[in-house]
Amino acid sequence: MTATDIAIAGAGIIGLSIARELTARGMTVTVHDPEPGSGASTVAAGMLAPVTESQFGEEPLSRLSLASAKLWPEFAAGLGITDAYRDTGTIFVGVDAADAAELDRQLKLYRDYGLACQPLSAAEARQHIPLLSPSVSKGLLAATDHQVDTRRVHAALLEACRAAGVNFVPRRVTDPSTVDAGLLVVAAGSWSAKLLGLPVRPVRGQVVRLRGPDELGYTVRARVRGRTVYVVPRASGEVVIGATQDDRGFDTAATAGDTNALLRDTLEVLPELAEYELAEVNVGLRPGTPDNAPLLGRTADPRVVAATGHFRQGILLAPITAALIGDLIATGTVPEALKPFDPLRFDAS
Ligand SMILES: Cc1cc2nc3c(=O)[nH]c(=O)nc-3n(C[C@H](O)[C@H](O)[C@H](O)COP(=O)(O)OP(=O)(O)OC[C@H]3O[C@@H](n4cnc5c(N)ncnc54)[C@H](O)[C@@H]3O)c2cc1C
Repeated sequence: MTATDIAIAGAGIIGLSIARELTARGMTVTVHDPEPGSGASTVAAGMLAPVTESQFGEEPLSRLSLASAKLWPEFAAGLGITDAYRDTGTIFVGVDAADAAELDRQLKLYRDYGLACQPLSAAEARQHIPLLSPSVSKGLLAATDHQVDTRRVHAALLEACRAAGVNFVPRRVTDPSTVDAGLLVVAAGSWSAKLLGLPVRPVRGQVVRLRGPDELGYTVRARVRGRTVYVVPRASGEVVIGATQDDRGFDTAATAGDTNALLRDTLEVLPELAEYELAEVNVGLRPGTPDNAPLLGRTADPRVVAATGHFRQGILLAPITAALIGDLIATGTVPEALKPFDPLRFDAS
């Protein structure tokens, strides 16, 4: 590889993780982004949840997520932010009978996928988290679903890339053919569709950040009369509550209704959080795809590689995305693990 071989469009967690990986492999990298960190990566809750994010019909994604979760401790250590990575587990609770039945269904799925998860009675769930309200009827413990402070990850990645000599250009790429590099990696999150001509759409998500004592001990996910909410406590006292999910184009305005729904469901299962300070409300755009799995690999344009469409799991999938895209670019061969995520799979079908 010669100088300026690789350009990357997008300085979210995916673009920066790839930039760092490629410079570590001796390549020279330029990252284009008018506003690094302005996308989903600094809004995200940071759950690293290969178990509780698993869904029916998404087994290849579940396998990729699990493999990436295993890379996270070393990834955080390499960035010098081991304290931003929290290996406390996740407890998933349900409120009414239908919520409890849904937890049973999820447990069966996790076991079918070979993922470790343990059922809890309501009393056992409350032993783990004394703040849980009596309305909780059942629980699941996913001890290997961890979390990371995404803003610290993004800041550390920027610093690592700068230290490694990555060149940053503060501009939006509008046409891949105008980028002066041997290869362009499109990692522009929800804004990737135009650059790739592939189906990536923005899926809006609103989160609320509280501040309070660090007393939960676990990430809490809840089904509250059919609705879902999660509560991610950081050691710093930040508590991220999320997240809504809807398609409203590129609209990132926060709404009172979404804040109300998130807080109402949270306070039903964790009433004492009503005393916490309301710190922030943010909206981010998840890069969604037709099958909820990312687009990773070569495109119809031989100069363009896609690394986008990570939807709900881009934080979790950053380390494995960087490693596999690194392998692809360094060797010219598509790694086996990338094959289910071929960006052209929708054309083929
Ligand atoms: C509310 C919410 C909660 C989430 N929670 C989690 C979670 O708990 N765990 C998890 O794993 N994932 C979570 N996610 C998903 C995760 O945030 C995303 O999958 C991930 O951040 C995508 O990263 P990215 O780098 O691809 O995109 P982004 O972070 O969106 O970055 C894209 C970047 O591209 C730049 N850009 C756009 N267009 C161009 C262009 N033409 N040229 C150059 N640059 C361009 C933008 O300025 C931006 O900086 C959540 C997302 C949301 C919204």
